[in-house]
Amino acid sequence: MIAYNLSLRTPKVTVVDAGKPGMEASHASYAWINARPKPPRSYHDLNRRSMDVWSRFERKLGGDIGITWGGELRWTATEGGARELREEVKLMQSWGYPIRLISPGALREMEPGLVAEPITEASFGEAEGHVDTSAVIAAALGQAAELGTKLATGAPVTRLMTETVGGAMRVTGVETERWRLSADVVVLAAGYSSQRMASDIGLHFPQTESPGATILTPPMPRIFKTVACVHTPRDLPDPQMNFRQMPDGRVQIHGGTHSGSIGDDSVEDAEWMLAGLEKFLPAIAGASVDEWRRAMRPMPGDGFPIIGFPARAPNLYFSVMHSGVTLAALVGEVAALEILDGARVDFLSDFRFERFTGVGDRA
Ligand SMILES: Cc1cc2nc3c(=O)[nH]c(=O)nc-3n(C[C@H](O)[C@H](O)[C@H](O)COP(=O)(O)OP(=O)(O)OC[C@H]3O[C@@H](n4cnc5c(N)ncnc54)[C@H](O)[C@@H]3O)c2cc1C
Repeated sequence: MIAYNLSLRTPKVTVVDAGKPGMEASHASYAWINARPKPPRSYHDLNRRSMDVWSRFERKLGGDIGITWGGELRWTATEGGARELREEVKLMQSWGYPIRLISPGALREMEPGLVAEPITEASFGEAEGHVDTSAVIAAALGQAAELGTKLATGAPVTRLMTETVGGAMRVTGVETERWRLSADVVVLAAGYSSQRMASDIGLHFPQTESPGATILTPPMPRIFKTVACVHTPRDLPDPQMNFRQMPDGRVQIHGGTHSGSIGDDSVEDAEWMLAGLEKFLPAIAGASVDEWRRAMRPMPGDGFPIIGFPARAPNLYFSVMHSGVTLAALVGEVAALEILDGARVDFLSDFRFERFTGVGDRA
């Protein structure tokens, strides 16, 4: 999204990708656009702001990028879970987030196809949605290419080239196995691999190992009456399941947490995930696993994004983050301001590289 936003203003952009863009975390992603609750407030607000940019971004791209709005529905099964959900909803409401508690009857009316028993509490976050990452990446890069952006795919960057001028480091470009490319500014947006690439030039930050997996069914008849996505209770012994239906009818299922997803190992796990969902969504019975997607999340150690130019490499722009689908619309836009106009966007101040200064640095 950064390349797309840059391409609107300059033809001098080259995207260098090890494979086909969008085939790592973005491909495996559940791609839920949300800000719930994502504390502290500055991080919640960043996500919330990006949610609001998505529709404008969609209009700018001018085509069908597979966005589905409709909100998120969830419920709890125990009293403890209900208390937690009430607290969470209360917090988000105090931040002005459009979410509310709903009665079991309202849940059943909204989604009669769900088996939600028992229900101790339920909530509906009306502003949430999801997107087809393949469609949005193809549209954004397709338009960037029409505007003059060059795409170098299947070209793993082996090294960020640097020079030191007056004691300060400058990144001069990138090197692949076959060629070198000089650049005034380099954007480091290599997902999980960004940490290694930065570390190679002495810019260290911690990264949490967070493997993730999702499965997709073939296109199915419409499963939701009103909402965009559903989360099953997280207070049951079974793992929580998140599921959504894409505009073409495929159902995507994500299970587990950020510290590891269930179903990371085998096709049997994928089938087990599908079977686990069946008790909440009988309509899924008999569906097959069409695709099994896995990737490492780009997850800076404290869980928050790294965005912007670090003081120690003032022309290397970092864009490394989880919730990178939610945040893509906003980050693409503000990164262009910081890169092309020299702006320093104040609401990014909690998400700068500098918070890791000193981590792993050698004297
Ligand atoms: C299972 C799962 C579920 C998720 N669910 C959500 C969600 O619901 N909502 C949400 O907002 N976020 C979610 N995320 C996180 C989100 O998907 C990521 O934050 C986002 O996709 C990161 O995008 P990216 O472009 O930075 O990284 P990636 O999509 O990983 O892309 C990195 C790119 O860099 C390229 N690359 C890597 N190394 C090199 C190299 N040496 N040289 C050149 N190119 C290189 C790769 O080929 C790839 O194209 C989820 C992630 C996973 C894995």
